[in-house]
Amino acid sequence: MDAQITIIGAGVVGLAIAERASEEFKDVFLIEKNPTFGQETSSRNSEVIHAGIYYPKGSLKSKLCLEGKNLLYDYCRKYDVPFKNCGKLIVATSPDEIPILDGIKKTAINNGVDDLVILNKSQIADLEPSVYALQAIYSPSTGIVDSHSLMKRFETNLINNGCQIVYGSEVTGINRISDGYEITLLDSDKNIYKFTSRVVINSAGLTSDLVSEMAGLSDGTLKIMFCKGEYFRLNPPRNKLINRLIYPVPVHNLEGIGIHITIEMSGGVKLGPDVTYLESNIYDYKVTPSKQEAFFKSVRKFLPFLEFDDLSPEMAGIRPKIQKPGEPVRDFYIKEESERGKPGFVNLIGIESPGLTSSLSIANYVRNLIRI
Ligand SMILES: Cc1cc2nc3c(=O)[nH]c(=O)nc-3n(C[C@H](O)[C@H](O)[C@H](O)COP(=O)(O)OP(=O)(O)OC[C@H]3O[C@@H](n4cnc5c(N)ncnc54)[C@H](O)[C@@H]3O)c2cc1C
Repeated sequence: MDAQITIIGAGVVGLAIAERASEEFKDVFLIEKNPTFGQETSSRNSEVIHAGIYYPKGSLKSKLCLEGKNLLYDYCRKYDVPFKNCGKLIVATSPDEIPILDGIKKTAINNGVDDLVILNKSQIADLEPSVYALQAIYSPSTGIVDSHSLMKRFETNLINNGCQIVYGSEVTGINRISDGYEITLLDSDKNIYKFTSRVVINSAGLTSDLVSEMAGLSDGTLKIMFCKGEYFRLNPPRNKLINRLIYPVPVHNLEGIGIHITIEMSGGVKLGPDVTYLESNIYDYKVTPSKQEAFFKSVRKFLPFLEFDDLSPEMAGIRPKIQKPGEPVRDFYIKEESERGKPGFVNLIGIESPGLTSSLSIANYVRNLIRI
């Protein structure tokens, strides 16, 4: 075998897996079709370290978010990755939303998040004088991270561990051979290469369903639908009025957790993301200027100082959803596929939020699925 372990995809999750695997194994390869790491979903998100408040109890999302949050804070401290444990407020702006806050707190406690505090109007004003809310939940363990620096650190560490990264090469074929897999690569000059690997880890994000199909694992229930999230920027100097993350009470079904306010390490402030399933799986990162009105209206409820011209179009990201619009939220799909006749092939499909928060715990989880 040329490789013991091959990881497909150098987003934040593939990088974390490659770092973890290369601590223990020799001949680990990381293959990425783009010229460098993190050019897709991993650089087009809110960069929030989620507390793990909303996910269904017992789900991988819940377990891996909780574990991942603590691992990520420790990792950032250890390697000087910029982060801020800024906390977040979930704000009720009308009396009918107040009971929902109680429900969120109960769900969170059930999920092992026991540090949420209910704040009244004057306590909210102490923390965020420019925010309007009747009542709020404060989550002290929520934070933000500089995701580019995090991925750069993963890359440095995995190279130091001896992992080989191959950028600019797309995996186009995966065939089962006696004790592993033959992988076909197409590089940017259209050259084709083949190599063999005992274990293959599919961490291909938005096209992970297609990579799984290349290995002969077709499954209609694991088809990815591109679901776009757009952001608007809160222009200076009004960004200075916000100190932490501010979320409305969540909308039905958690398709998204509502247009919220995210702060950045640089001091910038974004609104978003919204939730729009695309008609086809195309990489559409355009921001729709006409959405400014809807963003303005939904956020003005809790940012009364806001004026329409305080906003400007920012950027968009795409979620790899495996549930159709309106369907209940699905869990991360992370499985070693022996049961489906592909031993040593590990699939990660539908790694939407909280995938960044969970990157290190996903890496440990995947490590435990590998048998060499
Ligand atoms: C709008 C939005 C907001 C979000 N906010 C947050 C947040 O605040 N906190 C949080 O925890 N999570 C958040 N997430 C989720 C988080 O961004 C993702 O879970 C995470 O980035 C997924 O990382 P990944 O490595 O699985 O995928 P990706 O970053 O998509 O990486 C996959 C990589 O695989 C490569 N690839 C694909 N096919 C092939 C192939 N055939 N050959 C070679 N390479 C291939 C791609 O080029 C890509 O680089 C958000 C997501 C979105 C869209």
